[in-house]
Amino acid sequence: MANAAAKRQKFGSHLSVAGGFENAFHEGVDVGCDCLQIFVKNQRQWSAKPITDEQIAAYKQAESKTGIGPVVAHASYLLNLASPEAANREKSIKALIDELERCEALGVVGLVLHPGAHMGDGEAKAIKRISASLNKAHTATKGFKCRVLLESTAGQGTTIGHEVEHLGQIIDGVKQGDRLGICLDTCHLFAAGYDLRDSDAYEAMMQAMDASFGVDRIACIHMNDSKFDLGSRKDRHEHIGEGFIGRKGFVNVVNDARLADVPRILETEKGDDDKGRPYDKVNLDKLRRMVRG
Ligand code: ZN
Ligand code: MN
Ligand code: MN
Repeated sequence: MANAAAKRQKFGSHLSVAGGFENAFHEGVDVGCDCLQIFVKNQRQWSAKPITDEQIAAYKQAESKTGIGPVVAHASYLLNLASPEAANREKSIKALIDELERCEALGVVGLVLHPGAHMGDGEAKAIKRISASLNKAHTATKGFKCRVLLESTAGQGTTIGHEVEHLGQIIDGVKQGDRLGICLDTCHLFAAGYDLRDSDAYEAMMQAMDASFGVDRIACIHMNDSKFDLGSRKDRHEHIGEGFIGRKGFVNVVNDARLADVPRILETEKGDDDKGRPYDKVNLDKLRRMVRG
């Protein structure tokens, strides 16, 4: 593992902040995370108590003590910036602003967001609504360092973001496009029909991304294998190498020089494997071993 490429790469996981933000950092040390993803509020509720100065201090102390970073956050699953109902859209924008404020207070560099779902109203309208909603959120968070990272999706239901072009179209409709980054998710891409296992298909996907939003914009990659086969449009994560993507797909991703500096985050199931080792540790070790010397 003494090679430069392997050393530079950052591997981490989405960890729980139950009992305090500092706990995610300490667990991160236990399982061997270089970087981290967290929730900055309960992801299944609309509102949350304001973040306190004590919480911020505890976060910053754990961050500097452990040296883990960068840290990204994942936004609430309830948000739908594409909702055809104006009231629901406004509620989502308000909640997004609140999450960005929390991230900014903590120094979290990016907030991963599912672009939204059109609910039967069609993709073109939804994409316009998402851009308009992001413009509002940007206006309310002037000068923030934390960027929204639009996540590629599996295409379950009526969700937007299963074609990489959707993400570029959203960015094109945003006034301050430089405030947006991209979060890829290997399971989502594969479920959406991008075959990460095949070198030619992988390269074609990267070219499509570069044409759509520029690969330099990719700021995070969720590393999840898939419980379902290529093009299933089902979002069900599996442990690394145990799903339909398999080792080959992840080898392509971790050895892509264009993505070498992008933090890689597991969103796979927690718990211990049959040898009693934490699954996060097992999955992180597997990924690190795939990096070519
Ligand atoms: Zn997500
Ligand atoms: Mn994800
Ligand atoms: Mn997912």
